[in-house]
Amino acid sequence: MDGLFSLQGKVVLVTGASSGLGAHFAQVVGMAGARVVVAARRVERLQALAEQLRGQGVEVLAVAMDVTCRESVEAALDAVEQGFGTVEVVINNAGIGGAARALEVSEDDWRAMLSTNLDGVWRVAQAAGQRLVKAGQGGSIINIASILGERVGNGLSHYCAAKAGVIQLTKALALEWARHDIRVNAIAPGYFQTEMNDAYFESVKGQAYIKAAVPMGKLGQLPQLDGPLLLLASAAGSFMTGAVLAVDGGHLVSSL
Ligand code: NDP
Repeated sequence: MDGLFSLQGKVVLVTGASSGLGAHFAQVVGMAGARVVVAARRVERLQALAEQLRGQGVEVLAVAMDVTCRESVEAALDAVEQGFGTVEVVINNAGIGGAARALEVSEDDWRAMLSTNLDGVWRVAQAAGQRLVKAGQGGSIINIASILGERVGNGLSHYCAAKAGVIQLTKALALEWARHDIRVNAIAPGYFQTEMNDAYFESVKGQAYIKAAVPMGKLGQLPQLDGPLLLLASAAGSFMTGAVLAVDGGHLVSSL
């Protein structure tokens, strides 16, 4: 892709690329010309995605990464530096779901949620940021938050707290890293059907909820994230930092 939204030759890391939004993002940035690094724990899935992308002419590297573990994150970034060089764009997408009422959520479930969905985003952003600063290069970090970082839902106190943290973290990093020419922004998706929520959105209850709660009356389709993603990743968004883009069919502005 030429022009404003091009990622030609850029090294772009996508975490949580073994399914859902992340696998889709890898494809999108690959089609925009990026050299793509796909990362997650399920390496066999990454290999399959990498094969598919190579078939489409994309340069791609698959690396094992557990975002809850500093050693794993650093080892993955070391491998990327050897293969491709410094990561210039990070799509910080890895995350887990899960529902538990606030009176019942266990210590383990709370910790797992925060450890992946908030600490993991911080850990990958910090490790990538440190390497960019050391290399004297600018970059773009895109954190995948959620509309549940701004509003709340039943049984989701841990998820909402983690995603609200991601939004504030995005703004705080944007402030501190502007001097290094590292832009930090977030996308707050509404509801998109993936492995995380498949069962619910296949159910009559899930479908009725979407019709009633989302002003546009439907689930998002993954390609509807492409424009905002490329905007934040590319030179098209070169004066944007600290922004949170909701892509939600109006869900955040639903009537109270
Ligand atoms: P999926 O369950 O389809 O994908 C989640 C991805 O995260 C998987 O690739 C998984 O890979 C990876 N992951 C989970 N834990 C770790 C870990 N410890 N280390 C590395 N990777 C990990 O979910 P989605 O695609 O729906 O979600 C992607 C992101 O989008 C999440 O942050 C989610 O909160 C957010 N989001 C999703 C919405 C939706 O409607 N789908 C709405 C709003 C936000 P593996 O298991 O192989 O490690």
